[in-house]
Amino acid sequence: MIGRFFLSATLAVLAAPALACGPDALGVARELPVGGGVAVGLKTYPRTLALADKELVLTFDDGPNPPTTAKVLDALKAECVKATFFLIGKNAESAPAMVKREIAEGHTIAHHSYSHPAVTLRNLPLEAAKADVDRGMEQDDKAAFGAWSGQTRSPFFRYPGFGDSPALNDWLQKRGVSLFGADLWASDWLPMSADQELKLLLARIQKQRKGIVLMHDIKKNTAEMLPRLLRELKKRGYKIVHIVPGPAAPALASAPAGWFSETERALAHTWPKAPPGMGAAAAGKAKAAPGPL
Ligand SMILES: [Zn+2]
Repeated sequence: MIGRFFLSATLAVLAAPALACGPDALGVARELPVGGGVAVGLKTYPRTLALADKELVLTFDDGPNPPTTAKVLDALKAECVKATFFLIGKNAESAPAMVKREIAEGHTIAHHSYSHPAVTLRNLPLEAAKADVDRGMEQDDKAAFGAWSGQTRSPFFRYPGFGDSPALNDWLQKRGVSLFGADLWASDWLPMSADQELKLLLARIQKQRKGIVLMHDIKKNTAEMLPRLLRELKKRGYKIVHIVPGPAAPALASAPAGWFSETERALAHTWPKAPPGMGAAAAGKAKAAPGPL
């Protein structure tokens, strides 16, 4: 009995920081382990995580960028919300303290290549693309965990600009890396005010009601509107699901009839003269993508 009492008391103490947010905080409704090298996110793939109505997974790309990433982390902390950060390796390399803060505050770190090539990874020669992915994972892990074992501790990846390829997918999935697209996004790569971004994203969430949400923690407007977004999600009864690396594939939901890859259409539009497999030199001359980053 005494042992049980001490265990309960210890757990109560350990749980105390979460209570600092108060009962009105948005919080995390559940943790969802993801493994098995799945490829999810309806913008790109014909399946996604099986989420319940009004469940959202929050993800942020392209960081860390200390001034804006710190604000995003502050906003998440104030609401006891956990998110997933798809890091650019060279940013992690130059701002490791910010990556360590993400880990310390309970977030998941994930990978988004080393250099975020403007032409996308699919338009690089295969070996160059693989090298960029590996270098990114190494720098992210070094920043997050202080070490690189040759295999990432966080096998989650999102392609820059959603520019995947069958060969890269196969290579990553065989290594157990799960591929994340998105179900909806903030379009925060487009010029708009924080108010406009908040309104647009909330309207999309209300319409779709659940899914993996993509934002960018490098964007000032996103950092600015995030506290209001989280408050509004709480008011409207949304629940946050925190994805973490897991041992097996999670339950998945298939795309509805009539599904098509929105990102594939955007890529075809963005790169009319840059078919997959083009040489690196030619690819380097292509214009930067105006689409999803
Ligand atoms: Zn990106």
